[in-house]
Amino acid sequence: MSRPAVSMAERRPTRRIHIGSVPIGAGAPVSVQSMTTTKTADVEGTLAQIYALAAAGADIVRCTCNEEEAAEGLAHIVPRSPVPIVADIHFHHEMALAALEAGVQGLRLNPGNLRKEAEIKQVAAEARDRGVPIRIGVNAGSLHPELYKRFGGATPEALVESARMELALFADVGFEDVKISVKASSVPLMIAAYRLASETFDHPLHLGVTEAGPPPAGLIKATAGIATLLAEGIGDTLRYSLTADPVEEARAGRQLLEALGLRERKGLDLIACPSCGRAEIDVIGVAAAAQRALEERNLPLQVAVMGCVVNGPGEAREADIGIAAGRHKGHLFIKGKIVRVVQEQDMVSALVDEAEKLVAEGIEARLAAADVGAEAAAEADRRALLERKGTDVNHTGERIDHIRRAVASGQRAGGPGEGDDAR
Ligand code: SF4
Repeated sequence: MSRPAVSMAERRPTRRIHIGSVPIGAGAPVSVQSMTTTKTADVEGTLAQIYALAAAGADIVRCTCNEEEAAEGLAHIVPRSPVPIVADIHFHHEMALAALEAGVQGLRLNPGNLRKEAEIKQVAAEARDRGVPIRIGVNAGSLHPELYKRFGGATPEALVESARMELALFADVGFEDVKISVKASSVPLMIAAYRLASETFDHPLHLGVTEAGPPPAGLIKATAGIATLLAEGIGDTLRYSLTADPVEEARAGRQLLEALGLRERKGLDLIACPSCGRAEIDVIGVAAAAQRALEERNLPLQVAVMGCVVNGPGEAREADIGIAAGRHKGHLFIKGKIVRVVQEQDMVSALVDEAEKLVAEGIEARLAAADVGAEAAAEADRRALLERKGTDVNHTGERIDHIRRAVASGQRAGGPGEGDDAR
């Protein structure tokens, strides 16, 4: 329900392509991709993972096509998949041709390991005739050795040049239905390469930090790179490359886009205060219980769990709904307005109950249904807490008194004596 009040940088204009039914570029919503980890020949196992990825937020799923059995698996998978399928191709151009025969909606070629011009053109011509887009997927780790030598390493210029050379080969057969990635595991390198790519090409860009590793460090690296570029208006589709269950990749991609206001909220956004000396409850425990209960119900809300009523409702007034603790009670609020005061042990159940009603009935109706006297009761609790704890929750004044007393008694006992050396 909540929308960011400030919008992101204007998106850089690009061409439009379609991976099956999913538009990419030219103002289309930024799409989320992930990749299966099953053997593609295992049709049922791969489909189960594709369904899980789609449920977690993936708009497009990539499967490896590394052998004939994988291509045959794709022929079964593509018609039963809930989302378009891209075949990932390395080294063997015949696998790209086989994947096209299987009916995939997109190909990914790595120019670093599929290098024969005639083969690249053959794949591009076949993709052109079938109306299937190709991602030119450049990777710093598998850059063409000649480019590595010419540029003295995997520089941003070298990555972009690799994509440019592949594009030129495609152009020779009249094929331009392309998106581009210039991934690296180094975040600064990846950012610089994509900035240069966005200045060089008007094709849509697929963002990613390759081999980001396991969470949480992998999540942080991928987010640092992808979010920086999205905030500059660069990027049309993305993938988190995590050493983890790919469902985590899809979920992270979706959550990042929702956090940046680039996609409609589909699920829960739980915000919780970090807790401090004022907290009246175990914020971590209550937030975790609320998250579990709300995620089960898949409610598209921003929900706040705040440790105290002194600051909680005010600080979280932008949240659709929230709860703050105070004097063994829970203060339930909608858009910062207290609507109910419940017993502390009922905080989570009351929050979930009200969240469900909020989704069903809307904000105005639930504000109108607020308990009479809830605001006054909450204000009384807030004042009582302020009086009890005052404003100096960290006891800084008390500490300063102790310091002053300690210094004064030290001076009375005698300062540095004669002959003391202060060096
Ligand atoms: S809401 Fe209350 S408990 Fe939570 S951080 Fe703010 S002052 Fe501390």
